[in-house]
Amino acid sequence: MQDYDIVIVGGGPGGLAAGLYASRANRKVVSIEKLMPGGQIANTEWVEDYPGFELIGGAELARKMEDHAKKFGLEIVNDNVTEIYTEGKYRIVKGDFDSYRAKAVIVATGGQPRKLGVPGEHELAGRGVSYCAICDGAFFKGVPIAVVGGGDSAVEEGIFLTKYGSRVYIIHRRDELRAAKIIQERAVKNEKLEFVWNSVVERVNGTTKIESLSLKNLKTGDKSILEVGAVFPFIGFVPNSNIFREAIRKDSMGYIITNENMETSIKGIWAIGDVRKQLVKQVTNAVGDGTTAAVAADKYIEAWGD
Ligand code: NAP
Repeated sequence: MQDYDIVIVGGGPGGLAAGLYASRANRKVVSIEKLMPGGQIANTEWVEDYPGFELIGGAELARKMEDHAKKFGLEIVNDNVTEIYTEGKYRIVKGDFDSYRAKAVIVATGGQPRKLGVPGEHELAGRGVSYCAICDGAFFKGVPIAVVGGGDSAVEEGIFLTKYGSRVYIIHRRDELRAAKIIQERAVKNEKLEFVWNSVVERVNGTTKIESLSLKNLKTGDKSILEVGAVFPFIGFVPNSNIFREAIRKDSMGYIITNENMETSIKGIWAIGDVRKQLVKQVTNAVGDGTTAAVAADKYIEAWGD
């Protein structure tokens, strides 16, 4: 069992910002990250909406955030957190490799891609079904690629995938995109992109790799086959909020509900960034949340007593 003032679960931008502020306040702080620090931006080609950086590679921004937090003393460990629970005055964060005892815990666990939930998706995962364009796009050079969704992720990643695919189809269930206008404008100008409107994927077809998708047009009811070598679903997000032994307040989608100081319904536990119920999911929000939570946790520890 390792002892800390503050344990941060997650090493994305929110977790790293919280780590920076909490370490700078001279607390003993660790950020526990399953894989590499950086969270979703580490798998984003370019970030163009983080103030002060007109255009910066996602991985580079993540690295800068990590280095900056470490400079103030943040410790980063690799572990997979499976449970958080209360033991007396302390919170215990249990990982696969170790357990961490903390006075305060900041949960910055983000979420994971929502699945299509259709036949073939699970079976062909890693053989043409992928949820990370920057990781897997290059495997599909010169073949037609499909992206599913109509939000910022689908359209941005669709544009990115035109680097590789002979053609990129964006399959959306409506005839209007949810993505920001500036991203839509770029998509419309890209000649390799084609939209398949009012349509959903009913099945991913193939045996050892993807050969095609079975589509259904929701307006006409028509069914069709789209030949592609890969499909990248970007249909939203499921928060990673199922690690609490005690009941914690969440909304119907599983997002953790906090007050304005990022405090959850469990004393001594804060939640920040994409795992928290809030209007927008941006790096800037996560960083702001992390700042607030770190300051609030620091004050909480100040009043800890013996
Ligand atoms: P999102 O905004 O929730 O969009 C999900 C898209 O998938 C929507 O178009 C939705 O259709 C569609 N969809 C949902 N369930 C579906 C299903 N079962 N079958 C087919 N389509 C389905 O998710 P996101 O694009 O991943 O973005 C998540 C958050 O991150 C957003 O707040 C976004 O602004 C942010 N983000 C920002 C940037 C950026 O600023 N550069 C980049 C990436 C993400 P409907 O439109 O019909 O609901």
